[in-house]
Amino acid sequence: MTTTEQAPRSAHSHGRWEPALSVSRAKEYQKCPLQYRLHVVDGIREPATRATAAGTLVHSVLEHLYDVPAPIRTPEHATTLIAPHWERMLAKDPALLDLFDDSMTQEKWLEDVHGLVESYFRVEDPQRLQPVGREQRIDIVTDDGIRLRGFIDRIDRSPAGDLRVIDYKTGRAPSPRFVDEALFQMRFYALLLRGSDRLPARTQLLYLRSGRVLTLDPVPTDIDHCSAEVSHLWDQIEADATAGRFAPRKNPLCGWCRVQDRCPLFGGVTPELPEKGIENLLRTRVRTAA
Ligand code: SF4
Repeated sequence: MTTTEQAPRSAHSHGRWEPALSVSRAKEYQKCPLQYRLHVVDGIREPATRATAAGTLVHSVLEHLYDVPAPIRTPEHATTLIAPHWERMLAKDPALLDLFDDSMTQEKWLEDVHGLVESYFRVEDPQRLQPVGREQRIDIVTDDGIRLRGFIDRIDRSPAGDLRVIDYKTGRAPSPRFVDEALFQMRFYALLLRGSDRLPARTQLLYLRSGRVLTLDPVPTDIDHCSAEVSHLWDQIEADATAGRFAPRKNPLCGWCRVQDRCPLFGGVTPELPEKGIENLLRTRVRTAA
């Protein structure tokens, strides 16, 4: 691979941020329509947690590890990137310091981040890789006119032109019960790539903490099914938006739900549906199917 190889093109229009369906929001809707609505339509933003901050920092380090020539991409170099990238995050959001207390000091948390960065080298050898895309935003419009969006951590292209999609995970690897969700994410990324370049030969989720790698070599029928599933899902979202009702759905993750105070199943009061938010959401479908 050489650095002159082209990154897959992204079909997004520059400038205005158009609404689009992402894989995480699609999964969220499947789990609980009300939680999806509160985040996407009402625009409730959740503050960072130690886990999300660690994820952001590790992603940033691994993205920039590939700025330097291959021989320099060592664990020692990678760990030198942690402090400046953490400083940058703190400069943007000083409230991140509030995440720490005596039970988890910043130093202890940074040790964990070091461990995650070092464990990346047990999964891959970055000296042998030359990505053609990093943190790449890809927007496509499906045949049914639905805009989909994804940010792909890394895309490699082989000398034969085959694409490989890589997604770094700093959380725990999924138990067998949740492997389907992980597969859905890989298919969704393959769908994005197929729409913007070509079907990737391989998609992989790298679980840094455990060193586990989930691999899917997608075939066209897989992606056709995923496309049909996404269309069906969007039809449901549109129907909810039109009816003005996104129902809460109790699920095993309710205990971690950070909008529970607005959920009627837990004694909360759901705010009125914001009209503007619905109008905006409905622009995710760019046109009706041909
Ligand atoms: S608490 Fe559970 S049911 Fe209620 S909004 Fe959150 S995820 Fe949905």
